[in-house]
Amino acid sequence: SAKRQLDSHAAFYSKSLKDITMKRIAMEEALRKAIKAREFELFLQPIIDMRSGGIVKAEALIRWRDKSNKLISPDEFIPIAELCGLIIPIGHWVIEQAGNMLKLLHSYNDQLTLSVNLSPKQLNDEHLLDAFTATINKTGIDASKVELEITEGVLIDNFERVERHIRQLRKLGIRISIDDFGTGYSSLRYLQRLSVDTVKIDRSFVHDLSDNENDKAIVLAVIAIAKSLGLEVIAEGVETKAQRHFLMDNACFIAQGYLFGRPVPVDDFCQLLSCE
Ligand code: C2E
Ligand code: MG
Ligand code: MG
Ligand code: MG
Repeated sequence: SAKRQLDSHAAFYSKSLKDITMKRIAMEEALRKAIKAREFELFLQPIIDMRSGGIVKAEALIRWRDKSNKLISPDEFIPIAELCGLIIPIGHWVIEQAGNMLKLLHSYNDQLTLSVNLSPKQLNDEHLLDAFTATINKTGIDASKVELEITEGVLIDNFERVERHIRQLRKLGIRISIDDFGTGYSSLRYLQRLSVDTVKIDRSFVHDLSDNENDKAIVLAVIAIAKSLGLEVIAEGVETKAQRHFLMDNACFIAQGYLFGRPVPVDDFCQLLSCE
C-alpha cells in the first residue's frame, strides 16, 4: 500500500540520515584528536607569473595525515570542521604555521606572498585579528606578503561584521583575495562594497576554456572586471598549454595549476625555490 511504501521510505531515509550523522560524529571526534595530536600539514602550491615563469606566490593548502599515514583532503574534513566549530582551532593552527612558513620561504625569496584560505566561520571569529597580529609580531613577517583567500559564500551572512573584519585585516597590511570567483552570488556587489586586492577565477571556468564558448566569455568578463576595478586577477586550475596561451593572450598573467606544479610539502617547495 501507499502507506507501507511511505513507511519504508521513512525507514530508508532515517537509516541513511542516521548513517550520515554517525559518520559526522565519528569524524568530529577524530578531528578533535587530530588537533591535539597536531596531525595537520600545510602543502604549498606555486602561483606563477607566466611572463617570467617565476614563482610569485604560494597557496597554503591543508592536509590531514591520519594515524595510518593516509592524507585526507580538506574537501573531506573542512566542511565538517566548519559545521562543528572546530575550524576555529584548526584555523588558528593554520595562521600560526603560515607565519613560520612564510618566514622560511622569505629566506629563499623575500618577494614571495603566501595565500591562506579562510572559512566563513573564521571571518566571524572575534579572535581572528588577534591571531594574525600575534603571528606577525612573533615572526616579524611583512603583513603585505600575506593574502587571505575568502570565497564569496562567506560574505552572505553577517555582511557588516565580515566587512569590519576585512577592513581591520587590511589595516594590518594583509591582502584580501576572492577565491573561486564566479561560483557564488552577487559577486559584483561584493567587489564594489569590499576592498579586495585580488580575484581568483574558479578552475571550473578555466577547465573548458579551449572548447566552451560560454566559459571563454566568463573568463574574459572576469578579467575585464578585475582590470577595470584595478584588481589583480589569478587563474586557477591551469592544466594545459592551450589554457595558458588563452590567458596570456587576454592579459591574465598570474596563474596556478598542475601545468606549473601541484601542492607539495614545504621541503619540496623550498627545493623549487632554490632552483629558481
Ligand atoms: P581552493 O582554495 O580553491 O584551492 C585550490 C584547490 O584546487 C586545491 O585543492 C588544489 O589542489 C586544487 N588545484 C590546484 N591546481 C589544480 C589544477 O590544475 N587542476 C585541478 N583539478 N585542481 C587543482 P585542495 O588542496 O584539495 O583544496 C580544496 C579546498 O579546501 C580549497 O580550495 C580550499 O577552499 C579548502 N582549503 C584548503 N586548505 C584550507 C585551509 O587551510 N583552511 C580552509 N578554511 N580551507 C582550506
Ligand atoms: Mg584558495
Ligand atoms: Mg580557489
Ligand atoms: Mg576553486
